[in-house]
Amino acid sequence: MRPFYVTSFASAVTGVILAATGTAASSSASSASSAASSAAAAAADDGYRASIRTIDAATARAMTGVSWRPGCPVRISDLRRVELTHWGFDRIRHRGELIVHKDVARSMVTVFHSLYSMRFPVRKMHRVDRFRADDNASMAADNTSAFNCRPVAGSTRGFSLHSYGRTIDVNPLENPYVKGRTVLPPAGKAFTNRANVRPGMIRRGDRVWKAFTARGFRWGGDWKSLKDYQHFEIPN
Ligand SMILES: [Zn+2]
Repeated sequence: MRPFYVTSFASAVTGVILAATGTAASSSASSASSAASSAAAAAADDGYRASIRTIDAATARAMTGVSWRPGCPVRISDLRRVELTHWGFDRIRHRGELIVHKDVARSMVTVFHSLYSMRFPVRKMHRVDRFRADDNASMAADNTSAFNCRPVAGSTRGFSLHSYGRTIDVNPLENPYVKGRTVLPPAGKAFTNRANVRPGMIRRGDRVWKAFTARGFRWGGDWKSLKDYQHFEIPN
């Protein structure tokens, strides 16, 4: 995980900046009046940063033959690179990166602003290219990711919805895929008892669930035939 540096990140942004830039609110207020002004500053700028950019040439090269290839159902020009702030399990801010379809990029930024506001911890958020687009490796690393042009899990036919960039897997370890006796990632077995709520978990009706479903996402934990607790998708 990379620490989050406001200045370097903000100055690197060349596309749409959805959260206002500014100085971080002071957290060292010692008097009532400075506490009040600090609270006002925090209301104006909560530290969340997000940007949506087209896929630049270097990123496209890194993705091609890994997470994307000719024949995939979505053109690389229809994908967007989203960078946003999230809290880690270490309780500090991190910069995450997601590849998503352009149609859902703003919704993703809005949802993760909600998750940021509630201080929901996200383990890490890297492009799957870092894991050679191996979903099992990404899940085992508890990596939150969206676009990955790949077949449906356990099948060689058809593309997974992740191939369209309209889905996201959040904290896969804490929110495993469960079908019969299959649990992915395997270490997610420690989290198959959903009544034992621990940080980073998603449950039906909780604030994370509400943040996603309010923006039109469906949750894999609501499915009947299997449970994919990490998975949210916006249907085509
Ligand atoms: Zn998924």
